[in-house]
Amino acid sequence: MSDLKSTASTGIESCKSELSALSDEIWRNPELGFNEHKAHELLTNFLEKKGFTVERSYTGIETAFRATFGSGRPNVCVICEYDALPEIGHACGHNLIAEAGVAAGLGLKAVLESSDALKGMVTVLGTPAEETDGGKINLIRNGAFENIDLSMMVHPCPTNIVSPQMLALEALNITYTGKASHAAAYPWEGVNALDAVALAYNAVSCLRQQMKPSWRVHGVIVSGGEDPAIVPEKTTLKYYIRAPTTQELNEFKVKVLNCFTGAATATGCSVSIESVPPLFNEVASNGVLAKLFASNLKIEFKMEGELTISTDMGNVSYIVPSIHPMFAIGSGEVNHTREFTAVTNTPEAHTATLTVAKAMAHTCIDVLTTDGLLEKIKEDFEVQLL
Ligand SMILES: [Zn+2]
Ligand SMILES: [Zn+2]
Repeated sequence: MSDLKSTASTGIESCKSELSALSDEIWRNPELGFNEHKAHELLTNFLEKKGFTVERSYTGIETAFRATFGSGRPNVCVICEYDALPEIGHACGHNLIAEAGVAAGLGLKAVLESSDALKGMVTVLGTPAEETDGGKINLIRNGAFENIDLSMMVHPCPTNIVSPQMLALEALNITYTGKASHAAAYPWEGVNALDAVALAYNAVSCLRQQMKPSWRVHGVIVSGGEDPAIVPEKTTLKYYIRAPTTQELNEFKVKVLNCFTGAATATGCSVSIESVPPLFNEVASNGVLAKLFASNLKIEFKMEGELTISTDMGNVSYIVPSIHPMFAIGSGEVNHTREFTAVTNTPEAHTATLTVAKAMAHTCIDVLTTDGLLEKIKEDFEVQLL
């Protein structure tokens, strides 16, 4: 390992207990998207104390932040997430994503401080509301990725994958409107919007057997009527549809929409279908960055693997060259379960987090110190956009 990489690792290791305490404090105080006030305060205070220039509520988004060290280009960006899930806390382990981002930032700061010859800067970007609203898309819109050369983050899950194939996602709100009537005395005067929901749900379920294995569709009934004695007049559904690319998603969406409109026709209801922004792009992992990251890992990772989830990092990957490796945290538990929440604050999870944080820092060091490497990364990015 080069001296600079050892400097980064030592910089990270020397803050090990502070980093796990920071992560555990976020874990103990789960906050939902755009309400991560405590996490925002903890992370920005910590980075400021460590000598970063910190901008709180970055670009006007209350719980976003930017912390920078160094100056000029390249400007390498490591990303923190820190939002939790309703009821089940840090069941996606975003407290560990925050820990990894801050750790990588500290490692890179140690390197930039150690060498006057080294040019460039590190940006630690705090991105709220990944689970709910796709906060990174607001940050993109507000110009947060301007003057950034590349970005990376890591995400805990049950397996180690450098370039996971993740899915594009579109959210839909569906509203059926029928006609209220006394359900016992004058049912024939009513038009039943709950029947439309039942048919739509079952039509989508039938469609599922003809779907490609990589497609996903899932929904919930948000409202199904008010009182059994009243023929349900208004009902609403919320659905997510996902596919490996936005193009494939559009093809799939036509089939799903037919299920919703068909249910309206069958029941005599009217239907309104609203696409709820933002649309999440699939993650376009930068090939050069991914290979570099893999070469800096000290443990075994699969290079590619299917992971049928979606992330707002997909949108970032279309703005700057990016990677979004997934890493195992020493447990077979899966994301979005209470069991996963229970393992996102363990010593094993913290150890795994710092291992990938070091790999992020080392990858950035390669970019900062190798002539022509950033150009190669950008060429790969341009090809991907075609
Ligand atoms: Zn999640
Ligand atoms: Zn997540």
